[in-house]
Amino acid sequence: MSTTTTPQQARTVTGTGVVPGISYAPVAWKRDRPETTPRSTPVAPEDRPAEAERLTAAVAAVADRLEERASTATGVASEVLAATAALARDRGWRKAATKLVNAGTGAEEATIAAIAQFIATFEKLGGLMAERTTDLRDIRDRVVAQLLGLPEPGVPTPDHPVVLCADDLAPADTAGLDPALVVALVTELGGPTSHTAIISRQLGIPCIVAATGLRELEEGTLVLVDGTAGTITAGMEQEAARTLVEADAERLRAVREWRGPGRTADGREVELLANVQDGAGATVAARSEARGVGLFRTELCFLNADKEPDVATQSVIYAEVLDAFGEAKVVVRTLDAGSDKPLRYATMPNEENPALGVRGIRTAGRDEGLLTRQLDAVARAADSRSGAAREKVWVMAPMVATIPEAAWFARLCRERDLVPGIMVEVPSVALLADRFLEHVDFLSIGTNDLSQYTMAADRMSPHLATLTDPWQPGVLTLISMTARAGQAAGKPVGVCGEAAADPHLACVLVGLGVTSLSMAASAIATVGVQLGGVDVAACERAAAAALAADDAAAAKAAAVAALDG
Ligand code: PEP
Ligand code: MG
Repeated sequence: MSTTTTPQQARTVTGTGVVPGISYAPVAWKRDRPETTPRSTPVAPEDRPAEAERLTAAVAAVADRLEERASTATGVASEVLAATAALARDRGWRKAATKLVNAGTGAEEATIAAIAQFIATFEKLGGLMAERTTDLRDIRDRVVAQLLGLPEPGVPTPDHPVVLCADDLAPADTAGLDPALVVALVTELGGPTSHTAIISRQLGIPCIVAATGLRELEEGTLVLVDGTAGTITAGMEQEAARTLVEADAERLRAVREWRGPGRTADGREVELLANVQDGAGATVAARSEARGVGLFRTELCFLNADKEPDVATQSVIYAEVLDAFGEAKVVVRTLDAGSDKPLRYATMPNEENPALGVRGIRTAGRDEGLLTRQLDAVARAADSRSGAAREKVWVMAPMVATIPEAAWFARLCRERDLVPGIMVEVPSVALLADRFLEHVDFLSIGTNDLSQYTMAADRMSPHLATLTDPWQPGVLTLISMTARAGQAAGKPVGVCGEAAADPHLACVLVGLGVTSLSMAASAIATVGVQLGGVDVAACERAAAAALAADDAAAAKAAAVAALDG
């Protein structure tokens, strides 16, 4: 991540490109939190009820506005806005703030202090809870601006296309963005799996995160954002920039028109599959060019459950996903509870280090019934299929680390006529992939966790995005070992982490010998177009170049040169 100046005075800020695409427009910065000056004296006792009233009214105004936006938005945007409005109205922080006001603190400072308490608690809890701190900060800033009678902070409402820049973006900032007006997102913080990246992917606009030095680009500066290279360039010749934008528009047209199956230019078929989390998502994914489901994250169905759903209830949920894909392959992942996805009924509370704790298959190590009941439910759902279609219900376990775990899991699956596989997320599995393959029928590489555990870097940390980058040659080497073991055993090896959705990385993965790629359904056509434009030999050259590089950025640059050159 750096800022460089070329002889033509073009300045380039570099970050981690997470959604490909090229846009050219002036920078518009997200408006910062308004400054507040602390009061020198406490609010007089007789004025405190009115001050509390002022706070209540400000919260209501902010929440009303968010709800109004939620009612006009659709889909995820609407859900995100409604959730932020609910958090604004949350009794917990409002009670803490009102208590402070009743003790003489001004409404603005009470809001800041009360929300700070909640942020500290959420950060301590870690994982998904820590991610909610962005929403809390967002609410704090909106309420304080309302109290001060200032315009709402956050995303400006432009009347011409802009590149939206920010330190970080809250869900409420990005929900409802118009991709005709906001043509790229660039943030100083955030990682490849951050909320900003997810929203950009949905909007189909390029996105770069972890771009330090971004602040040097002032409001109104014309910049070219290249979401593949991860660069934001100011001072470019307009003609050259426009040519690049047009070439990208051409690529997008090809993406819209692309039809599967996935295959390289010389005809090597690569199964392109969808990642889903429930029946509704599977129904949408089934309308894409996905040839099946490569990762059904079952734990996401139960995030709000207080107790374990019984076998019948579970099987209805699994059947919805199987039915959405008719007779096609569906890979069901058993509960990956724990760490950033705690389930009240399955995970251990208060672990010191939950990402290294009892998560994934380890929860079943403590309570085998959790796993066997889930497998019973999957088998029951699979029974609605017959013959060859039933054989396309595959099951895999997350966070496997040892061979006996894999053997135990495989036995439980086979007892139920389910095809067993495991995820490759822990480096020990990649290192011994050939021996794991003696027990299971397939491997699926979870590059999100494999990167986290290979690089010893928290995947949730916005500060470590360059380490948790699957382009890291160390991670690619483990993928290569796994794919080669699969080839030797004649068994499929897929990738179902975010890496599969990166079009250039997808080609590298094919060059390494991976047989299927599973990703958000919205990414499939982009990957399909890229694969269709290269032959296997080019993928292999790109893979060799990436493996030989010293770091993630060099690996990506070398692979892109080998593929596009
Ligand atoms: C992964 O780790 O790459 C993966 C697909 O699993 P999750 O992101 O759900 O942990
Ligand atoms: Mg994982």
